[in-house]
Parts: sequence; C-alpha cells; structure tokens
Amino acid sequence: MITPIILTYIGISVMVALFAFGRRISFAGAFFTSVFLSPLVGIIAILKTDKNIRVKHYTTRYVCPKCNIEYTEEKENCSFCLEMGEKIKVKPTRILL
Ligand SMILES: [Zn+2]
Repeated sequence: MITPIILTYIGISVMVALFAFGRRISFAGAFFTSVFLSPLVGIIAILKTDKNIRVKHYTTRYVCPKCNIEYTEEKENCSFCLEMGEKIKVKPTRILL
C-alpha cells in the first residue's frame, strides 16, 4: 500500500534530478536532495545553482583562398601554390574548436 507512494516519490525525485543536467550540481546530489528534503527543495536547489560555464576554444588557421589548404602556423604565402608558381597570400581565419 505504501510502495506506490514511495515509487511515485522516487520517480518525481528522478525527474527533478534530470533538471540537474547542464548545471553545477550532480545528478546524484540533486536526486538525494529531492529524496531526503522533498522534490520541491530539490528543484529549488537545482534552480539556485549556476549553469555550466561553456568554454569556447578558438584557434587561428591560415587558409589559402585558392587551394583551401589550412596551415596551423603563421604563413605569408601558401607553400603549395608557391610550388605551383603562384604567390597566394593566406588569410588568417578564426575557427571554433
Ligand atoms: Zn594555396
């Protein structure tokens, strides 16, 4: 008789804990907060934590506009095109890693 209530309670706690994804609180932490302090406290605890900080990494690549070869090191002219007898200036491009 008491089992469905407990299962519902744990089910609600799991659903509350799912909100913890992408936040600075672990799933287990949110889950146990919900179980022991009620799901209402759990959801408040989750909403009070900060969202994960996403660090974006940029890098500069030097791309030849003619042959599209990417160079990781700084270059003045494309060495492939230089071999083909053309002096093509590579242009620096910021790309997201
Ligand atoms: Zn080139």
